[in-house]
Amino acid sequence: MMTRRHFISLTGSAAGLLLPACQTNPIKPSQSAHVIIIGGGFGGATAAKYIRRLSPSTRITLIEPNITYTRCPGSNWVLGGFKQVDSLSLTYQTLSSQYDIKLIHQKVSSIDPDKHTITTEHQQTLRYDRLIVAPGIDFKWDTIEGLDESTADLIPHAWKAGHQTTILNNQIKAMQNGGTVIICAPPNPYKCPPGPYERASMMAYYFKQYKPKSKVIILDAKSQFSKQRLFIEGWKRHYGFGTANSMIEWVSIPDNPITRIDAKNKTIETVFGDHYKADVLNYIPAQKSANIAEQSGLCDATGWCPVAHNSSESLIHSDIHVIGDAANYNPLPKSAFAANSEAKVCAFAVVSLLNEQEIIQPTWVNTCYSLITQDQAISVSMVYKLNNQGLAYKVNGAGGVTKETNQKSLSLEADQAYQWFNSISTDSFG
Ligand code: FAD
Repeated sequence: MMTRRHFISLTGSAAGLLLPACQTNPIKPSQSAHVIIIGGGFGGATAAKYIRRLSPSTRITLIEPNITYTRCPGSNWVLGGFKQVDSLSLTYQTLSSQYDIKLIHQKVSSIDPDKHTITTEHQQTLRYDRLIVAPGIDFKWDTIEGLDESTADLIPHAWKAGHQTTILNNQIKAMQNGGTVIICAPPNPYKCPPGPYERASMMAYYFKQYKPKSKVIILDAKSQFSKQRLFIEGWKRHYGFGTANSMIEWVSIPDNPITRIDAKNKTIETVFGDHYKADVLNYIPAQKSANIAEQSGLCDATGWCPVAHNSSESLIHSDIHVIGDAANYNPLPKSAFAANSEAKVCAFAVVSLLNEQEIIQPTWVNTCYSLITQDQAISVSMVYKLNNQGLAYKVNGAGGVTKETNQKSLSLEADQAYQWFNSISTDSFG
C-alpha cells in the first residue's frame, strides 16, 4: 500500500500523477478545432498547455486581462515577512512561445452559448468549438451593511493576490506593537479552505519577531476549519494559543454573524450586538463563481457552476467546460492543485470529445500545505475518483493529514511546500 509520505513525495514534486502514457504521445489531432479558454490562472493555463500537448493542431486561444499572473499560493508568506509580492508573478511567455497558444489580454464580457461565441471588452467576437471557462471567484459584496468593492482599499481582503496583498502587508508593517489584526474568515465554500489560518500563522510569525505585543483574532463564520487540530497544535507550540498571552485567538461566530462593518474606523458589529475594533481589518468576503460565469448563466442557485465531473462540461450549456474555483467539484476543494488536476482531466475530455472518442475515467489529486512558521508546515492530501453516479468522491485510505508532528517532519513538510510552489507553477505555466 502507498504510504502517505510516498504519496506526498509523488504529488508534491509533480502534479502530473494522473496523466497516462499519452501525455508524451499526442493523440489524434483534432484538425483545426478552436478551443477558447477564459482565464489564465492555474486552471486555464494548465488546460491550455495540456490540450496543446495532446493535440498539436488544435487552435488554442487563452483570454486573460492581465499581462502577468500573480499567484495566491505563497501570498500569505509575504505577510510572514520572508517573501516579496513581486516574486509571486509569472508571465505567459512560455505558453505563448513554446506551446503556440494565442494570448489575448482582454476581459471577456459575454458568452453566447447558442452561437458558440465570446465577446471581449473591446468588442472582439470569437467563435469556439469548445469553451473552457476558468475565471476563478468573485465576492458577494452586498451581504453586509457598510461593505462594497470600494472598501477593499481600507479593509483589504487580499484574497486575490497582488495589489491587495501589498495593501494588507503595508498595514501590518505600519501597525504599532500591541495592535490587533482581525481576520474575518468566510463561510464555505471559498478558495483555499486553510488559507485564513495559514495567514494568521504568518502574521503571528512576523509579530513574534518584530511586534510581540500584537495579536491576531480570527472571527470565523464557521464552527470548524481545515486542518484545525494541526493548526491549533502549531499555534500552541509557537504562539501561546490558549494562554492569556496568545498571539492568535479563534472566535467562531456561525450563529452570531457579522451584520455591519465600518471600514473607516475598522469596527465590526454582529447580529447580537457584539462589537469588535481592529487596527488592521482583513475582511475576506463570502464568495461565488466569477462574474463572467454568473452573467453567462453558467451558475445555479448556489452561485457556483454545476459540471459533469468526468468531463467538466457544464450541466447548463453544452460545449462549455468549467474548471477551477468557479466550478462545483465538491468534494474537491477550491485550490490551485485541484484546479491543475481538473484542468488535466478537462484537457483529456475536450480533446477526446473533439475527436469523437470516449473520455477517460478520471482521478484527481490535491495536496495543500500550510506554513505555521517559515520552516514548519502541515499538509492535507487526498485522491478522488468517480462513483457510479458520475460524481467525484474521496478515496478512503489515500492521503490524509500530517501524522508526524516532530520538528524534523514539520520542517520536511515546509521544504515540500516550497518545492510544490515551484513545481505546480512550472507544470501550469512553464
Ligand atoms: P484563478 O487562479 O483565480 O484565475 C482566474 C483567472 O481568470 C484570473 O487570472 C482572472 O484575471 C481571469 N478572469 C476572471 N474573469 C475573467 C474574464 N471575464 N475574462 C478573462 N479572464 C478572466 N491553492 C493551493 O493549491 N495551495 C496553496 O497553498 C494555496 N494558497 C492560497 C493562499 C491564498 C491566500 C489564497 C487566496 C488562495 C490560495 N490557494 C492555494 C488557492 C488558489 O489560489 C486557487 O484555488 C487557484 O488560483 C484557482 O485557480 P483558477 O484558475 O480557478 O482561478
